[in-house]
Amino acid sequence: MIIILRPTAEEWQVASLREDLSGRGLVIQEIVGESTIMLGLAGDTSMLSEDSLMRHEFVERILKVSEPYKLAGRRFHPQDSALEIAGRTVGGGGFTVMAGPCSVESEEQILSIARDVKESGADFLRGGAFKPRSSPYSFQGLGLGGLELLKIAKEKTGLPIVTEIMSLDYVDAFERDVDIIQIGARNMQNFPLLREVGKTNKPVLLKRGLSSTIDEMLQAADYVLTAGKSPLMLCERGIRTFETATRNTLDLSAVPVLKKKSHLPVIVDPSHGTGYWDLVYPMALAAAAAGADGLMIEVHNQPAKALCDGQQSITPFLFERLMRKVEKVRAAAMD
Ligand code: PEP
Ligand code: MN
Repeated sequence: MIIILRPTAEEWQVASLREDLSGRGLVIQEIVGESTIMLGLAGDTSMLSEDSLMRHEFVERILKVSEPYKLAGRRFHPQDSALEIAGRTVGGGGFTVMAGPCSVESEEQILSIARDVKESGADFLRGGAFKPRSSPYSFQGLGLGGLELLKIAKEKTGLPIVTEIMSLDYVDAFERDVDIIQIGARNMQNFPLLREVGKTNKPVLLKRGLSSTIDEMLQAADYVLTAGKSPLMLCERGIRTFETATRNTLDLSAVPVLKKKSHLPVIVDPSHGTGYWDLVYPMALAAAAAGADGLMIEVHNQPAKALCDGQQSITPFLFERLMRKVEKVRAAAMD
């Protein structure tokens, strides 16, 4: 951290600030310019409140040098994280595909889709049991019944499951039954939920909030990682912008940015990222080319009849084509 003082700062004011800071164990390097004094601080500045420093009228500005997140960042963890989940590796140079319907609707539906996506090479079955719908009048998911159906699909196909948790009430059930616990965009900053889910041993997939910056996402990641238990992956799923041609703006530049700032695997969800089934295929390929560690794709056997997000769901047929193409794109991008 660097504290820039106003030219009017008096000697006694600077001395008293220095005394306060060194009393907190910080090492201070003073840089004296023609009209400005700067105090460079080395040491753990996390306990310093920017607000209270700015209360001194002789402090002009504060520059933060280190990131506001630690556990998700590369500074203390330079090598990429690879997560071992149900016999699969997420990150570490591989490519992981999670596919399935937006929501679990019936045993027949989830089984049919699970079989199809497995056949095409998906690594995980996705499917919402608890759905965060904008309208309270829309289908809200089958709840615990949906979780039971996912378990049946897992048993019959061998595909591990990823599904979204919305409430602290179900942390135990998810820890017991689910392979990856998804935190949805709307809960990215539900801090109590992040902390509790982080205390399970279960891998977590954290989606980017609807209007969240990358730094906010990485701070949310630190909440999950605080307990030091749950392995974590991040998911770019589009953000709100002024653009209305798509449901969200899929921020693919977030992939290399996240890779630069963080050691965590990055998954891209082009289904929620675009909102239209015909945009999923090209953006999935673009995500692979951009260096994503995997994809989360909504697949439905009858998109027109889907109870949720049918307009952005691709058919098993198109999913199969995508799976074949994505490997080629990855190979070309890594060439
Ligand atoms: C989902 O994956 O079903 C979902 C609701 O996604 P998001 O939280 O990204 O909107
Ligand atoms: Mn959906």
